[in-house]
Amino acid sequence: MRSLDCCNNMAAAWCRGKHRLKRFYQLSVQIPNRNYTAEKFDYDLVVIGGGSGGLACSKEAAHLGQNVAVLDFVEPSLRGTKWGLGGTCVNVGCIPKKLMHQAALLGTALKDAPKYGWRIPEPASHDWATMAEAVQNYVRSLNWGHRVQLEDRKVKYLNLRGHLVDEHTVRGVNARGKETTVTARNILIATGGRPRYPTHVPGAREFGITSDDLFWLRESPGKTLVVGASYVGLECAGFLTGIGLDATLMVRSIALRGFDQQMAGLVTDHMTSYGTRFCWNGVPKKVEKLPSGLLRVTWTDTQSGQEHQDQFNSVLWAVGRAPETGTLNLQQVGVQLNENSGKIIVSGDERTSVPNIYAIGDIAQGRPELTPTAIQAGKLLARRLTGRSNQLMNYDNVPTTVFTPLEYGCVGLSEEEAERRYGADNIEVYHAFYKPLEFTVAQRDASQCYIKVVCEREGNQRVLGLHYTGPNAGEVVQGFALGFQCGFTYAQLADTVGIHPTCAEELTKIGITKRSGLDATVTGC
Ligand code: FAD
Ligand code: NDP
Repeated sequence: MRSLDCCNNMAAAWCRGKHRLKRFYQLSVQIPNRNYTAEKFDYDLVVIGGGSGGLACSKEAAHLGQNVAVLDFVEPSLRGTKWGLGGTCVNVGCIPKKLMHQAALLGTALKDAPKYGWRIPEPASHDWATMAEAVQNYVRSLNWGHRVQLEDRKVKYLNLRGHLVDEHTVRGVNARGKETTVTARNILIATGGRPRYPTHVPGAREFGITSDDLFWLRESPGKTLVVGASYVGLECAGFLTGIGLDATLMVRSIALRGFDQQMAGLVTDHMTSYGTRFCWNGVPKKVEKLPSGLLRVTWTDTQSGQEHQDQFNSVLWAVGRAPETGTLNLQQVGVQLNENSGKIIVSGDERTSVPNIYAIGDIAQGRPELTPTAIQAGKLLARRLTGRSNQLMNYDNVPTTVFTPLEYGCVGLSEEEAERRYGADNIEVYHAFYKPLEFTVAQRDASQCYIKVVCEREGNQRVLGLHYTGPNAGEVVQGFALGFQCGFTYAQLADTVGIHPTCAEELTKIGITKRSGLDATVTGC
């Protein structure tokens, strides 16, 4: 019967996969002193963490025939905010952030609208509670959707906080303290991270909030101080300004560390003209609650050494994220952590120092903290675990967008990094200042709408980095990211026919080099 089944092409492929899988397991679970090959486990795969990476891996593995369980548990924030299944992106990250960014963009559109003939009663005002309720309801629908998908794929969902007991055993504890223990041939850790609070700032934890709270506030945060100038700080300060709130961004050093600094400067210049206040070189010292309920923040200017104070309704800490490894019992089981970051050390195939335990997403050392990379890594891992593929995740040239009021999208190297790696004389930088058509009638200032393509100088001029500030940056850069995967050159970019009239077409027309010193302002079509 078995050989008959295998005559059928699909069944044969399945049989081959199954035999490969068996061989893989025999190889992968040879752990000193114990022979697990003969043991029976409750599951083929147990995933700790039901966020972007964990859900993607568990669904794919189940789809490929594995018996899978996912443990997901949300520890409430210090302020008591909690949410449902789906992890950071769905509940307190990308999704609510992008929707609130959209609310802010609509504010700008409202300002443009009269120029296009719309008669809008003045003054237009924004209601936080309405926006928050709509966003929160949408997020709840996603929570529900994830549960349904797990059920459809026959993935067992366990609402438990998990930790390792040994290399094949996970213990989960529910909100009432009840324990459940499961065993698995393979274990995936995808527990992500949580926002940090600054240390040595009295009042920071008592009176501050983080991105874990902001999107779930029922009432407006009011006048807000946002501390931290990377993705989270800039995006949050940006949309708070855009919906009409008084928002100040405190920057202790530079904005958008690691990004092209010319582009970062354009983003912050635009935010300044948009109305966000910037407190450069500011380091918070203390936060006190006044009898009025306002928060008084004291900070030091690192340049002058002087102290300053101001009062705010809310203080939002956007000072980075800490990996969620604390309660997993990792080191006792032999899973090694990076001493500085506290993240899990992984190899190219996402394996930790314990051969049958894997880690993906924000928890893994050296990985971008982005949803699509966690998802892709999870799917590919599932395919390797089931013997369907050997393909490893390619973490090079991951595109990204910062959803600030003027969006910034990029892929590849910053100009500084290209100079560092290749030398300034060996790169060519093409650039242009352009005006989006939609800005013209609206008479919007386009001073910061800029594109830059960093290439090798000699030979085919392979493109090393592509940078864009302007409307819909994510949509624009996504397509060019495909070019990156194909190793495209400046000549191929210049040969690409544009779509008119768009902002993206400016990239195909880019022709002025920085080296030439010519005016890079685009004039006419
Ligand atoms: P997570 O999605 O964080 O999931 C981990 C899950 O594990 C959580 O549900 C957690 O509660 C659970 N967990 C933790 N410990 C345990 C345990 N012991 N037992 C059981 N469950 C546990 N990325 C983008 O690509 N685009 C964006 O626009 C974007 N915007 C963002 C905006 C903000 C404000 C933030 C904070 C992040 C944003 N990100 C964005 C980053 C993105 O959200 C993360 O990179 C992504 O969610 C990481 O996925 P993950 O699977 O590693 O972890
Ligand atoms: P980051 O670690 O990227 O940045 C932290 C920021 O806080 C830096 O500007 C840092 O300044 C500053 N900072 C740190 N400590 C202090 C302190 N004690 N006082 C004052 N400032 C301080 O964290 P984020 O939370 O912004 O982002 C985390 C990750 O989430 C990102 O790397 C990104 O991958 C992901 N994300 C992605 C988004 C997207 O795709 N659009 C959106 C949001 C998040 P300094 O530079 O001086 O160290």
